[in-house]
Amino acid sequence: MVEADRAGFSRGKKLKKIGLKAQDTAEIFLEDVRVPASNLIGEENRGFYQMMKELAQERLVQAVRGQTILETAIEWTKDYVRERPLFGRTVADFQNTRFKLAEMHAQASVMRVYVDRCIAAHMAGELDATEAAIAKMTCVELQGKVLDECLQLHGGWGYIWEYPIARAYADARIARIAGGSIEVMKQIISNSILPKDKRS
Ligand SMILES: Cc1cc2nc3c(=O)[nH]c(=O)nc-3n(C[C@H](O)[C@H](O)[C@H](O)COP(=O)(O)OP(=O)(O)OC[C@H]3O[C@@H](n4cnc5c(N)ncnc54)[C@H](O)[C@@H]3O)c2cc1C
Repeated sequence: MVEADRAGFSRGKKLKKIGLKAQDTAEIFLEDVRVPASNLIGEENRGFYQMMKELAQERLVQAVRGQTILETAIEWTKDYVRERPLFGRTVADFQNTRFKLAEMHAQASVMRVYVDRCIAAHMAGELDATEAAIAKMTCVELQGKVLDECLQLHGGWGYIWEYPIARAYADARIARIAGGSIEVMKQIISNSILPKDKRS
């Protein structure tokens, strides 16, 4: 643990992000910082392994966040399409709207079962890296797809910052990159189903 007022600790400038604007992000620099032995968390020289051990839990958190956001976006969109009048009808009356929302609702329901299963495995101390990678990958990909389609159903207002769907769309993009990118999740899953030493 390094307190921010230690000599040698400094922050870079605040980075301007596409989304997550309520959360500051900056680089940090550690140059010849000295800390007392009592600041050690866990075991010496095991930092990387200790962090790796927690990654499944972090990926589950990302899946849970993705699931919550995509379910919320579907609710916002159901409300919006029912309220938006268009040529004597509402957007909710178009077959395309109804089918899109049906598709999203079905995919969200299936995804919820897997995420819940992973939460139960985590609570039992049994969540493994592959399951966590599957949850993160599929959930944040579905989140991106649902937010894009929900924004589309909002029409032009969907692109306007005062609508939560616009902010959720911008905020969600990082989920496919941070905490292990989609490509890294695919690597974890493929290594589990096709172990390298058994391939040929
Ligand atoms: C807003 C924000 C907040 C962040 N917060 C934190 C934080 O709190 N803590 C923290 O530690 N980090 C944080 N990060 C960093 C984030 O975890 C990394 O950006 C992310 O892990 C990707 O690493 P990278 O940027 O180095 O991309 P790179 O590793 O350079 O990846 C570039 C591209 O190559 C692909 N790639 C990489 N490896 C492979 C591979 N083996 N096979 C195929 N493709 C591959 C990637 O998927 C990506 O498409 C944050 C980043 C952002 C933008």
